[in-house]
Amino acid sequence: MAKLYFKYGAMGSSKTAQALITKYNYEENGMRVWLIKPAADSRDGEIILRSRVGLEAPAEVISETADICQLFEKRGKIDVIIADECQFLMPEQIDQLRNIVDEHDIPVLCFGLRTDFLSTLFPGSRRLFEVADTISEIKAICDCGAKATTNARIDGDGYIVTEGAQILVGGNDRYIAMCHKCWVRNIREHRKVKK
Ligand SMILES: [Zn+2]
Repeated sequence: MAKLYFKYGAMGSSKTAQALITKYNYEENGMRVWLIKPAADSRDGEIILRSRVGLEAPAEVISETADICQLFEKRGKIDVIIADECQFLMPEQIDQLRNIVDEHDIPVLCFGLRTDFLSTLFPGSRRLFEVADTISEIKAICDCGAKATTNARIDGDGYIVTEGAQILVGGNDRYIAMCHKCWVRNIREHRKVKK
């Protein structure tokens, strides 16, 4: 029985690298991987998925209104689906992936963030927590040594931002992963956190 996996982590937890390594491992075993990413995150341009450690691979960009089941049917034979930045998928699209797992017995691995810059669940991540078979955490570490769970958004001067839209397109360098305690303390004390 195939499963729907949600592998979540904070910014800087090497989720994209893990997605690409997973793709490589499946392909090494002769399996055909469909790598997808939502259009909402445009930091890598249209079709090349890049990790900070230098791995890269072409990925199909999924628009907010795309029906992933329909795209899947058109693609022909696929053995595995890997989605990066899955927090930006619509809840309905998570349901479509769930449907592919159930109806076609194809594993779907979703890599993404749990929460946004205000420590609130992304809608796509919420749906994954609800319907995924297996949920695991990819850990990142705060400067203090604790596990980083919060994705602090930083302004141009290095201070934490607490207002704004959930998605900041192309603003990948505007985030620092930290533990919740440091996040709250840095906001309260209005400390500069950008190095
Ligand atoms: Zn900390």
